[in-house]
Amino acid sequence: MTHLAIVILGQGSFNTAQRIKAGLPNSQILGLAGRVTGADVEIAEFGPALRDLYLQNRPIVVVCAAGIVIRTLASLLQNKRAEPPVLAVAEDGSAVVPLMGGLHGVNQIARQIGTILGTVPAITTTGEIRFNFTLEQPPAGYTVRNPQAAKTFMSDLLSGKGVRVEGNAPFLDATRITHDPDGPLRLLITTKDHEPAADELVLHPKSVVIAATGNWSNIPHILAEAGISPLSVAYVAVPETATLSLDFPIRLVPGELTAQHMVYAAIAEPELLGRGDIVIGTAVSPDAVSLIGHKRGRLAVVGLGPGSKDFMPPAVKAELARAQHIIGYFPYVEMAGPFRPDQTAHASDNRVEMDRSRHAFSLAAKGEDVVVVSSGDPGIFAMATAVIEALHQSDDPTWHGVELVILPGISAANAAASLAGAPLGHDFCVMSLSDNLKPWEVIETRLELATKADFALAFYNPISKARPWQLGRALEIIRANRASQTPVVLGRNVGRPGETIIVTTLGDLTPDMVDMRTVVIIGSSVTKTFERADGGTWVYTPRWYE
Ligand code: SAH
Repeated sequence: MTHLAIVILGQGSFNTAQRIKAGLPNSQILGLAGRVTGADVEIAEFGPALRDLYLQNRPIVVVCAAGIVIRTLASLLQNKRAEPPVLAVAEDGSAVVPLMGGLHGVNQIARQIGTILGTVPAITTTGEIRFNFTLEQPPAGYTVRNPQAAKTFMSDLLSGKGVRVEGNAPFLDATRITHDPDGPLRLLITTKDHEPAADELVLHPKSVVIAATGNWSNIPHILAEAGISPLSVAYVAVPETATLSLDFPIRLVPGELTAQHMVYAAIAEPELLGRGDIVIGTAVSPDAVSLIGHKRGRLAVVGLGPGSKDFMPPAVKAELARAQHIIGYFPYVEMAGPFRPDQTAHASDNRVEMDRSRHAFSLAAKGEDVVVVSSGDPGIFAMATAVIEALHQSDDPTWHGVELVILPGISAANAAASLAGAPLGHDFCVMSLSDNLKPWEVIETRLELATKADFALAFYNPISKARPWQLGRALEIIRANRASQTPVVLGRNVGRPGETIIVTTLGDLTPDMVDMRTVVIIGSSVTKTFERADGGTWVYTPRWYE
């Protein structure tokens, strides 16, 4: 069991949390800031932090009343298959209650914690109690081919029906399921592509290893010919330099992959099926399969949004949860945390985008799961472009073989616009005013044309110590073609501590009102304002022209 998050709300629970942590290496204590001292990680607010952990699929123990945990997670409890283990433990350690995650090992964790705290866990799952095992959740390495039948099968077993156990699954020895040669039920453990009959449950052990030096697209065909279920494939080993996409887990093998050799190396008692450049080997059980090479690495460039976790997409949260390495500009790496002890944060200074990108590829090419973080959207003046540029510059096939994904985020202009109303409600133009990476003349030309074209404008990187005069010059160009009454929105630190939104006009705007943490929005000729009930100002650009 890995990376258990032990959440506590007060110092009174710290002792129990520490006892659990001492017994379960890899676990972390998360304590409410201001209420708990000595926690590994501080959390600002209980509800959002608990929901984040849940969405990250972390096993969670909360040392508090079960009801509090249930109410806090209630809105997320739709999908039984996606739920991580969640347990409530009494403050004094006298009770351990597995609440959710029945299909993901919650009872096993409850038993472990019960042993640590010297108490009997409140396990209520019938199958578990009788057989020490449930078919709805076979151990890692086994897949139920007909999961829709598992529930009835398990109830039949519980009602006392005998079962013929056929095939080899060492894990069954540790359960209380016994073979009954005359039983009406049949539990079949096989790598073969067997269509289950009524009263039959088929478990496919992931004990088939394929080594392929070419012709990958033939793999499904060869498996079908051999009558092997794709669900039995543990992995396909291919040369590290192969670029391909397959529906199976892939292991990349550095150096030369001789199929025969690799399959023999991979498994204990191979039964080999040779097909030229594709060789299939079957081990006695999933436990006997040893891993060769490394998995395909993944590199995700993610947008954290403007700041607050509430505006971070769930897909980005999930990506951060699976990451082994987190790379980025240090304030953003901090924004993406906190991280588990098994995750490595590589925070760097600004302006080293290409170094960061190359570092990310070199880790991912070795099989690591890497996340590169940007604030806002990663494709807007941010890391996605640098990462793809680094890939374009490289002819290393192992870099090109990395699974590269870009996950979008809410950009500063969107976030700022939403706070003011809808100033970008019609055609708009996004520009970076930084002349670090493009000549100033290009910026001037674009400003002039965009203003003449009556786009609403959103400026990123509007000003900095190294670029003090550029914004003033930009405003001169804009004022030549836009009325001084044009509404302007200044969003500073949007979604972050110290957030401010200022609504002003083009005539009143001066560069000293703006800094590098501000996004500047300038309305078009039709952008309107009116007073809000709270005394502020709504700004919007209508969808139509008069
Ligand atoms: N990828 C980011 C933009 C990076 S460029 C995004 O999509 O938002 C950096 C500029 O973005 C800053 O100079 C500022 O103009 C703007 N910016 C980024 N985050 C901001 C925030 N939280 N509030 C206001 N402006 C922000």
